[in-house]
Amino acid sequence: MSEVPVAVVTGSNKGIGLAIVRALCKQFPGDVYLTSRDPGRGQAAVELLRQEGLRPLFHQLDIDDPRSIRALRDFLQEKYGGLNVLVNNAGIAFKVQDTTPFAVQAEVTLKTNFFGTMNVCTELLPLMKPYGRVVNVSSMVSSSALGGCSQELQQKFRSDAITEEELVQLMTKFVEDTKKGVHQKEGWPNTAYGVSKIGVTVLSRIQARQLRERRPGEHILLNACCPGWVRTDMAGPKATKSPDEGAETPVYLALLPSSADAPHGQFVSNKTVRAW
Ligand code: NAP
Repeated sequence: MSEVPVAVVTGSNKGIGLAIVRALCKQFPGDVYLTSRDPGRGQAAVELLRQEGLRPLFHQLDIDDPRSIRALRDFLQEKYGGLNVLVNNAGIAFKVQDTTPFAVQAEVTLKTNFFGTMNVCTELLPLMKPYGRVVNVSSMVSSSALGGCSQELQQKFRSDAITEEELVQLMTKFVEDTKKGVHQKEGWPNTAYGVSKIGVTVLSRIQARQLRERRPGEHILLNACCPGWVRTDMAGPKATKSPDEGAETPVYLALLPSSADAPHGQFVSNKTVRAW
């Protein structure tokens, strides 16, 4: 079994994920895994970074596929005996002009952004080694979408006692409410992406609390973050940050020094903790 530290970035064949791998290859003292649901796109991205003189490794990972997640888990357990850095970056967003029915957009967006991310965490968080760092890439849109929720929902999403099961029930209810055409009447904002990212931010707060309670003294730090508005296929060419600039906050959280005991369970943008 290798003693080398290991970092994994989900959805890293392009965009911000690829830029996070690039930065980790330069700064993380260990093996860095670029992952992609499509091996061809993943290998092409690895080749791109190799041409820059970097040495990322590759593993397939589709966060929508539980078998794929478990295969990565087993590989990491066998080869490294765990994991040091996990960046949950993979995500999707329908374009504003997309005419796919809203209920379908809600189901598909929640499936990857919330449920896929949660399933990766369920399998990989138990592998985190002491002083591990976990970064869940959310969005400032999670804050604005929270502001668009009813007072009752806002209270639940801000609660320090909400459980993962309760969060799953709420995310499932959102999808069901969109199918019945009652989501706004039920207090939800009209954004599937926004609700999926509320899910990612609240999930991070819950997971950080669980780590504090169940693994005290292991110094694992877990946070959600916004990369900013970044020029990628998702956000388009008018966005203000380059992918390398978008990677800065996720990489800062992934490389928090072993002496740090904060931030933990926070929502961070531009390397600054934001109120939730
Ligand atoms: P992007 O260029 O569209 O890249 C998204 C990445 O996620 C791609 O590698 C994509 O793979 C991967 N992915 C999607 N579904 C996946 C799945 N089921 N399993 C594994 N990988 C999957 O988007 P981006 O702008 O870099 O976004 C990265 C993250 O930042 C997302 O979580 C996004 O919500 C968040 N974010 C972005 C912005 C922004 O301004 N760009 C702002 C706030 C937050 P494929 O190539 O196979 O599709």
